[in-house]
Amino acid sequence: MFCPFCSAQETKVIDSRLVAEGHQVRRRRECLECHERFTTFESAELVMPRVIKRDGSREPFNEDKLRAGLQRALEKRPVSTEKVEQCVLSLKSQLRATGEREVESELLGTLIMNALKELDKVAYVRFASVYRSFEDIREFGEEIARLGEK
Ligand SMILES: [Zn+2]
Repeated sequence: MFCPFCSAQETKVIDSRLVAEGHQVRRRRECLECHERFTTFESAELVMPRVIKRDGSREPFNEDKLRAGLQRALEKRPVSTEKVEQCVLSLKSQLRATGEREVESELLGTLIMNALKELDKVAYVRFASVYRSFEDIREFGEEIARLGEK
């Protein structure tokens, strides 16, 4: 790819390693023209199922939206970007593992909640409070009560 600083076409890889449990390659590159360094991430692009929304409409799976949702829930929480990326990749492979061409948005929501539960309890409650809204207020209350116990 072109240098993002000076648009020169020649860059060289100075370091390359596996990240996100081997699902991504992180490369440090240096521009041969301006000698600026930058990082690229490479991962396989695989077909994701489409998401069926509550109103029955379908939309393409949107990784950016997923990441943004996780980041919103994890705002100001002590969770590294690397962990968030791992979570995104893990959610994607869980979705692909369903083998379905379309999945209900509820399934996606449940997978996200389970992932956040592992990652950060506070983020989990934040996400659950928005996602579930008042659908299952009792279970939500029980979760909050359990948080208080620790
Ligand atoms: Zn350059």
